Amino acid sequence: MIIDVHTHVFPDALGERAVVGISRFYGLSMQEHDGKVSTLLRLAREAGVDRMVICAAATNAHQTTHVNDFLAQTLREHPGIFYGFGTVHHDWPDKAGEVDRMLGLGLRGLKMHPDIQGCPMDDPRLDALYEAMEGRMILLAHTGDVRYHNSNPPQLKRVLEKHPRLTVIAAHLGFWSNWEQGVGELAGYGNLYVDCSSSLYAISREKAVEIIHGYGMERVLFGSDFPMWEPKAELERLEALNLTPDEMDHILYKNALALLGDP
Ligand SMILES: [Zn+2]
Repeated sequence: MIIDVHTHVFPDALGERAVVGISRFYGLSMQEHDGKVSTLLRLAREAGVDRMVICAAATNAHQTTHVNDFLAQTLREHPGIFYGFGTVHHDWPDKAGEVDRMLGLGLRGLKMHPDIQGCPMDDPRLDALYEAMEGRMILLAHTGDVRYHNSNPPQLKRVLEKHPRLTVIAAHLGFWSNWEQGVGELAGYGNLYVDCSSSLYAISREKAVEIIHGYGMERVLFGSDFPMWEPKAELERLEALNLTPDEMDHILYKNALALLGDP
């Protein structure tokens, strides 16, 4: 089994525009993929991916409920394949109320992009959100960008320490753009997992293996960051690391299954 814990989807009418915006933010071309659900399903089938976390993050407060409703509708249309990770914008007034509503809609987690959303992940406005999520909903956060101070190890560590019952998946091996420093500062937190998305393209195989071993195979999850990358290309990069079969099983599905159960 293969579970991809990091994919982005957009309503068909918005997909192409959203992809252009994200490409510009990172100066990366997104291989001409839109962020449509149908495209993700096709590419996942081609790659042999069985299940996926789908997510979207609101870039203004008004989008919060619309995004969560869109994800819930996508879950209903494709039962048994997707885990939905919704969003609560930092300016949304009733954060605990929206967490309850998301759980009622079948969403399992929350996606946060502190750099694109423009809110440090340790901002006090988010405490009510984290408190409502503790023990009930997983946080998948984009982490790391040397251009900002919103999702780097100091901000992430403050969240992990202040909310020890909050399970966090730090995307991109914990510190996009400064991977080695990430593992040095972050390995060992009991409530922290990382995904390996949007990282293996940028670091040497030796370094990638060192970082994965630094976190430990029980802490690393496979993610593609679709539509940034094709699931198949990210899988090939992971396979090229020549990890042991046991390590691959943990990264490809065992850890995700332990965290998320069945969709
Ligand atoms: Zn993401």
